[in-house]
Amino acid sequence: MKNLKINNRFTSELPADPDETNEIRQVKNTLFSFVYPAKPSNPTLIHASNEVAEMVGITTAEIQSEEFLNAFSGKEILPETRPYAMCYAGHQFGNWAGQLGDGRAINLTEVEHNNTFFTLQLKGAGKTPYSRTADGLAVLRSSIREYLCAEAMYYLGVPTTRSLSLMLSGDQVLRDVLYNGNPAYEKGAIVCRVAPSFIRFGSFEMLTARNELKNLKEFVEYTIKHYFPEIKGEPKEQYIQFFKTVADTTRKMIVDWQRVGFVHGVMNTDNMSIHGLTIDYGPYGWLENYDPNWTPNTTDSQNRRYRFGNQPQVAQWNLYQLANALYPLVNEAEPLEKILESFINDFEIDYKEMFLSKLGLFTSTYTDSNLIEGLESALQLSETDMTIFFRNLGKVTKADAVESSIEKIKDSFYSPEEITGTILDSWKKWFAEYLQRLNEEALSDKDRSEKMNQINPKYVLRNYMAQLAIDDADKGDYSLINELYLLLQKPYNEQPESEKWFAKRPDWARSKVGCSMLSCSS
Ligand code: AMP
Ligand code: MG
Repeated sequence: MKNLKINNRFTSELPADPDETNEIRQVKNTLFSFVYPAKPSNPTLIHASNEVAEMVGITTAEIQSEEFLNAFSGKEILPETRPYAMCYAGHQFGNWAGQLGDGRAINLTEVEHNNTFFTLQLKGAGKTPYSRTADGLAVLRSSIREYLCAEAMYYLGVPTTRSLSLMLSGDQVLRDVLYNGNPAYEKGAIVCRVAPSFIRFGSFEMLTARNELKNLKEFVEYTIKHYFPEIKGEPKEQYIQFFKTVADTTRKMIVDWQRVGFVHGVMNTDNMSIHGLTIDYGPYGWLENYDPNWTPNTTDSQNRRYRFGNQPQVAQWNLYQLANALYPLVNEAEPLEKILESFINDFEIDYKEMFLSKLGLFTSTYTDSNLIEGLESALQLSETDMTIFFRNLGKVTKADAVESSIEKIKDSFYSPEEITGTILDSWKKWFAEYLQRLNEEALSDKDRSEKMNQINPKYVLRNYMAQLAIDDADKGDYSLINELYLLLQKPYNEQPESEKWFAKRPDWARSKVGCSMLSCSS
């Protein structure tokens, strides 16, 4: 891979763990430990992204090489690199969890391409000092989910880590999917994912919790210097500005999640990227019927902390933890509190603008939220598919009547026979108000519809779609992975040959494991 330009800033500028034994332990006074990936017994490439390869400096021809296979399965180390696992901590489900770290992620190297830096990281490449009680491996099903979803999110315009490659390790991995005492062997897999860095909120929390304040200062300054170079001024001002920037990018990411109906499922502070990127695709899910209370994560089914409608509040809670971590450098609560306090307010402003754009109301200056709140509750009266509803709403014209408008969105109802009586009345009431406002819009029906179609996706990675690709892949057929990968590269386009994926969740997927209930086991 002749154009791959290795340039390791993280390991050359930050303190390394002097202990190079790959044993599970508490690792103090350091940001990372050097480790070697486990050697996979028989790696095979399932899929790779040409776009991501080119982005980091790998040619599409090189993807088929032995060198690519060996490097991104962990079989061989790239020349002039030293892989490492990062040390971080975090709050899980609201509780302090102490040291977590890259338990099954190994950073291969940083590369520089077209003046941009990328970190290439393997997920599922074996144990590290941070593996706690687990094996450091990943199974095929969760790897397919991560690989496909990250790319789908990217093409939806949602900030995310990217996927370079998906490989089978050739080894078997033992997992108890339902945590009910029935472990079984599954195929092991390795994803190479790419991001500017994999620094998390928990990276800073760890240093503060251990009172490693010298490292904290050095690490924050390292992060600002390399990733937020626009931040200038007095050190304290810089730290505050850094926090503000992270709050802003995090807020924008959540607005996008709510726009496309993505539920992360495990918004622990160790799963929050400092770059405001969606990271760590585990038991995530896509809203099918619009239900703000839905969480895909079975571990979260009791408290529903990570439910769709709670994602903005959780983001703010997570930012509080980051603020606490930065506090020893700032020594003043007020500026941090101000940023935190404005988070929900700013979110609501952005959310409203986003929601109105989903409705095609681009020039409106409405100050009330009736239309938004009215729709949010109407969508819950009877199971209504979020993606289909908004996409078909783009077909409603200014000349439509209430009845003909409802006709245009009725495919989104899971039980059309329920749309009678008071439910039908609510929809009629909502559409009457909507049509009135639509008629005040400046854009023509055609222009508005085109704009709406850039905001309301036609195709998302519905939970059952990923599961179908997984079921086929388990049998050695990877064609559906490629089909979905290509489909989801153009989520806003009409793709007549793929109309079958613009459909409500089939009945069999309603309560199937992997479709509506996701386990953290991965
Ligand atoms: P997650 O909830 O997946 O973000 O993981 C929380 C922590 O557990 C992180 O430190 C992970 O690296 C670690 N972890 C998760 N799965 C494994 C695994 N199979 N082997 C080792 N560590 C793991
Ligand atoms: Mg994680």
